[in-house]
Amino acid sequence: MPAVTADTLTLPRVSQPADATVRPVAKVVTAHRQLEGEGFQVRRPFPGTDLAAADPFLLLDHLGAVEYGPGEAKGAPWHPHRGFETVTYMLDGAFEHRDSTGGGGLITEGATQWMTAGAGVLHSELPPQDFVTRGGLFHGVQLWVNLPRSLKWTPARYQDIRAGETVLLSSADGGALLRLIAGELDGHQGPGVTRTPISYVHATVSPGARLTVPWPAEFNALVYVLAGRGTVGAEQRPLEEGQLAVLGPGEALSLTGSALQDHNGSRNGWEVLLLGGLPIREPVARYGPFVMNTRAEILQAVEDFQSGRLGASAPEELAHRTTADEPVDRGTNSERREER
Ligand code: MN
Repeated sequence: MPAVTADTLTLPRVSQPADATVRPVAKVVTAHRQLEGEGFQVRRPFPGTDLAAADPFLLLDHLGAVEYGPGEAKGAPWHPHRGFETVTYMLDGAFEHRDSTGGGGLITEGATQWMTAGAGVLHSELPPQDFVTRGGLFHGVQLWVNLPRSLKWTPARYQDIRAGETVLLSSADGGALLRLIAGELDGHQGPGVTRTPISYVHATVSPGARLTVPWPAEFNALVYVLAGRGTVGAEQRPLEEGQLAVLGPGEALSLTGSALQDHNGSRNGWEVLLLGGLPIREPVARYGPFVMNTRAEILQAVEDFQSGRLGASAPEELAHRTTADEPVDRGTNSERREER
């Protein structure tokens, strides 16, 4: 990691906001670990934060970084989704996806797959067979973005964003590299077309460097650490790998990479995701892979899935209907730690 590098001196620079209020830290959440799919471990900082503070985001799963031996790599076989979008960003290794509309593709180092489940889709997310056979470093992130009531029934679609399509930017002094995956940052537009207005940025902050970026006041703001350590917010709260900071109100984000980065995967600096979006502020009813507004809509989604109305391809593999049987809020009985 990181999958994308560049000489920051040649890149467009984000403006250094002069009089903007730097957002303070409202809360720090340490991700809990749990098993997903065929039994791969994820670190999940939501729930753990108040979901209203995360709105429009529903879930963030940090996959790895893990060094798989031959035959060890696992994924999530055929399962449904309805009512939201999944955004999968792969840093190392690969996921192969197949879906009930006949689509498919490889998400590999530095690439992002944006899947709008909308009215419903079945898909499988598995490491490719050659990767399973060989083993290797696997590292990725999956973010769930909610859809407002008016878009929950939109037809399913995919966007594949290759590593080379992300918009690369530099901080004002060249000390941080920013990969704008989706949405807008300081007037620059990322390649991901989002139904719900969000900004999704992967930043690599050099040891000792400070990154200050303008951030829309109406967006929420979350900072998640993929590797390394640093400080965040007006009060410079320490934040390290696997921790999420929920930021309070303001017009700018400020982060400083620690001078010493001794963690694996942080050779280039502090690796963080900057996430923000316009809150949807609607009731959320969720169960496993379905996120709707009401309990009746969830029951309908389960029934539609069981009767094959969410898609009927790949029938030979639909024996694996496991995910829909499990509630999503499995984190409540785990070793989740919350800090204030
Ligand atoms: Mn899925």
